[in-house]
Amino acid sequence: MPAGHPDFRLGSVLATSFTGTLSERHGDPVERIPTPQRLLDWLDVYGLAVDACTPAQLDLARELRESIHAAATAAALDEPLPSSAVEVINAYSTDGRASALLTRDGERRWQLGPDSALVDALGVIAADAIDIVSGERDGRLALCASPTCRAAFFDTSRSRTRRWCDMNTCGNREKKARFNATHRP
Ligand SMILES: [Zn+2]
Repeated sequence: MPAGHPDFRLGSVLATSFTGTLSERHGDPVERIPTPQRLLDWLDVYGLAVDACTPAQLDLARELRESIHAAATAAALDEPLPSSAVEVINAYSTDGRASALLTRDGERRWQLGPDSALVDALGVIAADAIDIVSGERDGRLALCASPTCRAAFFDTSRSRTRRWCDMNTCGNREKKARFNATHRP
């Protein structure tokens, strides 16, 4: 990893991991894909290897990211979805030309279009967002309990009582704060 770039927070849900590339939205926001290369690195982790990304394309990716964030937040709050966000998500879902392939090991692999273009990868992310916002996938959208975070995350725990977008960061910080409050002399 190039020095100076914040780590990724990798979750098991593609769309909300993507929105998590901007964290601490209600505190000091941390941009985890500050450069086109970092976006490519992130996509690579999720099996969406893309050949190239320009600064203008990075802006488009962030436009999709913020639209997913807006739609997922509204869904978590049971509010109407912002129509601009819905339009952007649908536009990316329509433009992508990726295909899902089944490997001999019984796993899913994404095959992007002939140019392995960024738009194909963004289409996969947009379709994933549609799955979780529409309720097509088993789980519940919720907002992180950390007041500086409030990230939308997809709770697939059996009890549906998960409180934090990420146990290792937001969850841990809250636990430490509680510990300090109780154990302070
Ligand atoms: Zn959080």
